[in-house]
Amino acid sequence: MAVDQEVARRRTFAIISHPDAGKTTLTEKLLLFAGAIHIAGSVKARKASRHATSDWMEIEKQRGISVASSVMQMEYRGCVINLLDTPGHQDFSEDTYRVLTAVDAALMVIDAANGVEAQTLRLLEVCRARNTPILTFVNKMDREVREPLDLIDEIERTLNMTAVPFTWPLGMGRSFHGVFDLRRDRMRVFRPGADRLDEQDEIIEGLDNPEIALRFTENVAQARQEIELIRGASPEFSHVAFLAGEQTPVFFGSAINNFGVREVLDALVDLAPSPGSRQALQRQVQPAESMFSGVVFKIQANMNPAHRDRIAFVRICSGRFERGMNLRVVRSDKDIRTNGVVSFLSQRRELLDIAYSGDIIGIPNHGTLQLGDTLTQGERLQFTGLPFFAPEIFQTVEIADPMRSKQLKLGLTQLGEEGAIQVFRPHAGGALLLGAVGTLQFEVVAHRLKHEYGVDARLASAKYQMARWVTSDDPRELKRFIDTNAHRVAYDAVDAPTFLASFGAELSVAQESWRLIQFHRLREHA
Ligand code: GDP
Repeated sequence: MAVDQEVARRRTFAIISHPDAGKTTLTEKLLLFAGAIHIAGSVKARKASRHATSDWMEIEKQRGISVASSVMQMEYRGCVINLLDTPGHQDFSEDTYRVLTAVDAALMVIDAANGVEAQTLRLLEVCRARNTPILTFVNKMDREVREPLDLIDEIERTLNMTAVPFTWPLGMGRSFHGVFDLRRDRMRVFRPGADRLDEQDEIIEGLDNPEIALRFTENVAQARQEIELIRGASPEFSHVAFLAGEQTPVFFGSAINNFGVREVLDALVDLAPSPGSRQALQRQVQPAESMFSGVVFKIQANMNPAHRDRIAFVRICSGRFERGMNLRVVRSDKDIRTNGVVSFLSQRRELLDIAYSGDIIGIPNHGTLQLGDTLTQGERLQFTGLPFFAPEIFQTVEIADPMRSKQLKLGLTQLGEEGAIQVFRPHAGGALLLGAVGTLQFEVVAHRLKHEYGVDARLASAKYQMARWVTSDDPRELKRFIDTNAHRVAYDAVDAPTFLASFGAELSVAQESWRLIQFHRLREHA
């Protein structure tokens, strides 16, 4: 198949949700449809270890499992679907933000009892900022949940986008009878059962079919009324508006009962976009260009601490990848061989050796690849848009044994490159400063410093609470700012100057006094 045909049949997406909304369950069911049952087991295994976050053995184990299941590739209706996993714990949400830059669409899962929850909202902000198209699955209709009209209203208000229901539930909880497919004018009748296949589902043709009212008396009138309301109130579905992130199609169902899931998968194939063009500093890159290009959006330490090898996850942005080809790391001008590229779980072996735009490849390396790196066949390109967020918690790091300071520096540099933590070097000298978005990040770093680098690090809370990257159009003004605020400026992993503040007022005072300095919450790799 030609590159453009391969691109056209690709769908790359991630599921975003609040913990316990049903992401793991839904992932399993989606994989079942594509016949990838062996993968489903490993999704569960991963989940099982996820909750034991204080048990370090478990974290180690999880790292191994999650390399394998962090990208799941499946084939469905002739499409190649890449599902990118996102970390469940909110302390690692920075990682999730970066994963979201590698997808072309997102599937939002909502627990119908809880509506749109905090963590979902934060992730959605990232999608909204990039105009990523979003599909919505309202889960757990087999429970006593909130009124569907209410949920639709909440989705619209919190997401600031129009919700267009594609299916509509008939009842809920004990009297959940099924969903109306509003576009195909038919009803899928609900029958509980976790391992049921949906081919066994009963379908009743026609939403007005009198059989429906005869069988499911209690809720039919209400559901019909709601549908009428919805049809009157919400606009027609517009594919253009969906692709622009202005409309979200909404599906109701119950993931654990594998009910209403197929509709979502079909929508993903029919509606979600194939890989599009990507912005590099130099130019716009088209997915079907013949030359390979890709960007590192995630780095994960591998299982074996002794080897310190890491896997760089690369989203292919153009062209075709073949195992063994030489790729140039544009930042360092170094070439890397790709014989050892990691295969992610896939039902078809041959997909592993050749990959196209939209696919993810995992390249093992010992530090040659960093977050945000662009890989090409020689062209000087730098993709933009990989976000680093200003840390909100800070700790200083010191070591018990000064003889180990070299190892400490190496460890912190490498962990910083992975995005596990942000490392700051104070302008005025002194102990290094670690910045994180969630406290669990510090625990992981201390643990890994000890086990992978043999360093007993002492972490102590620092007085800072916020950081802002500072830039200015006038380099002299920036230098003046740094000199004047020497004790509150530090440099991050790429030597970008950062202003540190202990409380909000300190930041606002600085902003007011230094009009020619820009303060940024987000740094994009460039
Ligand atoms: P995650 O944290 O988002 O990955 O959520 P899980 O998939 O692990 O689901 C959280 C809990 O909700 C588990 O106990 C699931 O069995 C349960 N669950 C998932 N889907 C449904 C559903 O459709 N109905 C009901 N009643 N429970 C569900």
